[in-house]
Amino acid sequence: MGARQKFIFLRSCVLSGIALLASISVSANTDTPVHTMLGDAPSVPKNIVIMIGDGMGPAYTSAYRYFKDNPDTQEIEQTVFDRLLVGTSSTYPARVSGYVTDSAASATALATGVKSYNGAISVDVNKQPIETIMEKAKARGLATGVAVTSQINHATPAAFLSHNESRRNYDELAISYLSTDADVMLGGGQRYFPASLIEKFEAKGYQYLADFSQLDSVNQGKVIGLFADVQLPWAIDDKESNKLSKMTAKALELLSQNEKGFVLLVEGSLIDWAGHNNDIATAMGEMEEFANAIEVVEQFIRQNNDTLMVVTADHNTGGLSIGANDEYKWDTSILRGIKASPDFIANDALKDGDWLARVTLSLGFVPNEQDVIQLSTARMQGKEVMTTAIKLLIDRHSNTGWTTGGHTGVDVQVFATGPASSLFSGYQDNTDIAAKLISLLPKQKH
Ligand SMILES: [Zn+2]
Repeated sequence: MGARQKFIFLRSCVLSGIALLASISVSANTDTPVHTMLGDAPSVPKNIVIMIGDGMGPAYTSAYRYFKDNPDTQEIEQTVFDRLLVGTSSTYPARVSGYVTDSAASATALATGVKSYNGAISVDVNKQPIETIMEKAKARGLATGVAVTSQINHATPAAFLSHNESRRNYDELAISYLSTDADVMLGGGQRYFPASLIEKFEAKGYQYLADFSQLDSVNQGKVIGLFADVQLPWAIDDKESNKLSKMTAKALELLSQNEKGFVLLVEGSLIDWAGHNNDIATAMGEMEEFANAIEVVEQFIRQNNDTLMVVTADHNTGGLSIGANDEYKWDTSILRGIKASPDFIANDALKDGDWLARVTLSLGFVPNEQDVIQLSTARMQGKEVMTTAIKLLIDRHSNTGWTTGGHTGVDVQVFATGPASSLFSGYQDNTDIAAKLISLLPKQKH
């Protein structure tokens, strides 16, 4: 930890300590304490659920509001994000990496309270490991888990569970999970966990699940569930299965059996991937399933008022713009009608038969003459060009804009509910979020 980071870390610890004391005295002095069927909520949580919408900058939550808006009513309905908003967070990485973070540096900040370079998996700028909130939780007897839609050894979950000088060392990260002792690991990534490695997990007492239908039958013990070769399918192509919300519900069920409490990380990983692809239809599908997962946790908190949920993003992706080309318009009726991802539609279009009829059916709107010419030309150039043509067609009709295929440095939002959720109000840095969460863990026994 450099002097500057040490200062920031200490400062945020002090600040969060003050805020914590303030929140405790507020709840102790208040005339009308919040009562629930289960009694008063404690001022310090027993359980913590951290939810990260990867790449979910503010434009994504606004876009999701209009995407979900019921056009038959005058009002624009609030979303779960509107309901739970409490503050904002800066995301910049360590000095050496400038102002625009990647998922690894940001997850390192959120998991440890220390800024590092882009690519770092919970190591500092000198490549030395930094203890994560998951490790601290384990040391205090809490259960830990991750539920994500990427491979479980992707940057965000990896920074919570492990340490490595590079996010790209997928195989090393997978092997390192053997020693994390995490109780629940759900997501994709079969490719990185060969049978020989899975045997070692089983020898440590883990149940291994390779098929999503098996998830239902697990009701206790440690589990590693890998439901795809790499990432899970796009939510828009897999609507009925609600994988992230089901993994979240199962993780809560398993982890809450630990009497001392738990820390769970849930990531809507593929919001970022759709953002990199500048793919609005797929991004809204991922947002919808991430929102579903948040609502699962919200419901859990209604029944377990000793649980804190903090939701944020690690950074913004794609520079998504609600409206483009000097036109004051964003047409969500186009987006609501789309039945599959541009990936899927392009694959389908390359098959024989009346491809244009199938594309039109999947899009839910009729391409104009110009569109058809462009699609026909793109179709002859193969899958990738066809996918891009479909994305551009959707952007034109909905008037969606993008500024980059990478990340941007804009601040992200923070959403929270449950005990001590007021700690997260106002502006903070992503390292502050970690410092506050860590301050809420039970005190370590000596
Ligand atoms: Zn990204």
